[in-house]
Amino acid sequence: MDSLSKEKRSWNMSRIRSNDTKPELIVRSFLHRNGFRFRLHDKKLPGKPDIVLKKYKTVIEVRGCFWHRHERCTKATSPSTNTEYWQTKFQNNMQRDKRHERELHDLGWNLIVVWECEIRGNTFPPKALLDFVNEQRNISSTFNARKS
Ligand SMILES: [Zn+2]
Repeated sequence: MDSLSKEKRSWNMSRIRSNDTKPELIVRSFLHRNGFRFRLHDKKLPGKPDIVLKKYKTVIEVRGCFWHRHERCTKATSPSTNTEYWQTKFQNNMQRDKRHERELHDLGWNLIVVWECEIRGNTFPPKALLDFVNEQRNISSTFNARKS
């Protein structure tokens, strides 16, 4: 028996196929509601980040817990068959993420990682995202106050 339920597997598979996965849409609509403008999947940046907020030199990556091995997350299960295959795959994904993180950092970009499990249930918006939005709001209100 595989440790992944059938339902979960088909959900995971659907995540690989599409760029416009649901968790990403939730983050996008949250940003939109808060008045942020952004670009999607910018090919010019390392790792083609999901959401690019150029004005704030910030990118947001929406990561699937299973594929990107969210630490201490119950969704980051390890299939009990083809162990080696999966371990290699996971290692590659993590190394790629780390490399892109470094490259973005070197280019002066701020990276916010939002995990798929933080989007479900009542954990949304996750702290990293909320902090970012509040921070930008404070900066702009200070600016406006100074102007008037
Ligand atoms: Zn997770």
